[in-house]
Amino acid sequence: MPARVTEDATRAAHAIIDAAAAGRNLRRIRSVVPDARVMAVIKANAYGHGMLRIAHALAEADAFAVARTDEGLSLRQCGIPQRIAVLQGFVSEDELQAHAGYGLEPVIHSDWQVAILENAHLSTPIRAWLKVDTGMRRLGILPAEFEPLVSRLRQCASVAQPIPFMSHLANADELGDSFTDQQMALFRDVTQSTASECSVANSAGLLAWESTRSDWVRPGISLYGVSPFPNRTGIEEDLEPVMTLRTRLISIRQIEAGTRVGYGGDWISPHSTRLGVAAIGYGDGYPRLARSGTPVLIRNQRVTLAGRVSMDMITLDLSGCPDCRVGDLVTLWGQGLPVEEIANGAGTIPYDLLCGITQRVKIIET
Ligand SMILES: *Cc1c(COP(=O)(O)O)cnc(C)c1O
Repeated sequence: MPARVTEDATRAAHAIIDAAAAGRNLRRIRSVVPDARVMAVIKANAYGHGMLRIAHALAEADAFAVARTDEGLSLRQCGIPQRIAVLQGFVSEDELQAHAGYGLEPVIHSDWQVAILENAHLSTPIRAWLKVDTGMRRLGILPAEFEPLVSRLRQCASVAQPIPFMSHLANADELGDSFTDQQMALFRDVTQSTASECSVANSAGLLAWESTRSDWVRPGISLYGVSPFPNRTGIEEDLEPVMTLRTRLISIRQIEAGTRVGYGGDWISPHSTRLGVAAIGYGDGYPRLARSGTPVLIRNQRVTLAGRVSMDMITLDLSGCPDCRVGDLVTLWGQGLPVEEIANGAGTIPYDLLCGITQRVKIIET
């Protein structure tokens, strides 16, 4: 028998999930919108953080939102008792029956879903949300369809009354863009004659646009400690990062000036350089398009990416950390290094990076 190998001795790419920080972020969001109820968005495996883990950490949320039916079903099968909205709704009567059977709340976004509800004859009326398209042009009924569809839904025995309304903001992260005001004006215009509950604000809306705060807010990215705004970080919004992605330094070599490094030889050392190799790459979800110069953290000091990201490794110019050693921990984003900065360096948004960590990354809960 081989000797037992401790996990610590072999650990490479891992994500530390500080679920309690998500709970603190929820409290911070509540302090911004004390009168609103919070529907915590935990779709896409809670933006890569683990859906069930985050649902437990956010037990104080008034409801959860997921994108798809199977996400809602797996929460129910794990015993999560809170209200759960399914943002994409259902496409068939069978799927509607699954929603009804498991107490999920579908979002109605199309007229044909109203027809499915009218034909379904559910034993108890289902709570459903009606989504209005005020400019996102993705899902939602058009303002002109609102009156006729609402009156059909009001007469539908399978639908619990009153029906709450929602809409989604397309540009709320752009602080100077008047499109959010236009969307709100449309939303208010169609819903003003009703006494129903409303929900519009995502993270950007609730943090920056007072007019979008209503009965329910739907934060996603901010719960994970990340700013929805370009050129800002979660720390500036008083939020704490929940995920810290780390690995280890597995090699250090001195290379001469003028040495080409990595695939394509894209990076050429300007002078003699200590070149490090860290065990993480796009096979772990570190973005392949991160540019040379993107920061990583070793011993709380910043060093920079040098050359293209490979599947399993990145190469680093270690000039910023003269005392680092093979085996040192390397932080790719999270505590001490905002994921927003890395997203900028890779030409993408933090949502994409958080959702994108792969199966190979070991999750460690603190
Ligand atoms: C994902 C999503 C949210 C949350 O958005 P954030 O920008 O992550 O806060 C809210 N509402 C809907 C409809 C969504 O799809």
